[in-house]
Amino acid sequence: MIDSFRHQGLRRKMVEYLKVTKDISSDFVLDAMLKVPRHLFLDSSFLEFAYQDKPFPIGSDQTISSVYTVAFQTELLNIKAKDRVLEIGTGSGYQAAVLCEMGARVYSIERHLNLFRSAKRLLNSLNYYPNLYHGDGYVGLPQEALFDKIIVTCGASEVPNSLLNQLKEGGVLVIPVGFQEQMMTSIVKLSGGQIEKKEYKNFKFVPLLRNKQ
Ligand code: SAH
Repeated sequence: MIDSFRHQGLRRKMVEYLKVTKDISSDFVLDAMLKVPRHLFLDSSFLEFAYQDKPFPIGSDQTISSVYTVAFQTELLNIKAKDRVLEIGTGSGYQAAVLCEMGARVYSIERHLNLFRSAKRLLNSLNYYPNLYHGDGYVGLPQEALFDKIIVTCGASEVPNSLLNQLKEGGVLVIPVGFQEQMMTSIVKLSGGQIEKKEYKNFKFVPLLRNKQ
């Protein structure tokens, strides 16, 4: 697994693009994305494209989110080191790696067994050790709740109550909501169970499926 000067240079350009063209302002997010070797999370035939701002296939009919989508969602999460973060949709493992790089304690669920396995192998080989689960993320991870932050990286038709229930008071849920396109939504859980919801802009995600669909 090679992370050459060329890859590192492409990564610097990617981060510069996210900062200058796409208004990502959190250095904490940008520094983490500068460090994670994104090209290793793509099929080797897509190596050339790893640092372009596009989603790419990762097998099992799924895609790795574009670099801007990852940066945008991660910025909305407002991660603090040691945060307990639940991710729904491990996919390639790239988003989980970025969260680990930020010092979060990461829990991530993937429904496709082969993606779960390959993400685990790759993440561990890069010295990232998130807690990975094979299963239905729609129901969250009740045995490990509560979480400071929850990120859904597939398109949800609605906000699952199961996930809201697993969020700490003061916690943030970032979730794309919709069918053809999804409105990026952040939900803060206030005291007394009230929620504060903000909508940002549309993205395109593969769907959040219920188990056995
Ligand atoms: N975060 C990923 C991108 C994931 S694409 C990355 O960094 O590469 C969305 C993923 O969500 C897919 O791998 C898909 O299989 C998974 N998914 C969809 N519905 C799910 C569910 N109910 N539970 C767990 N994973 C799910």
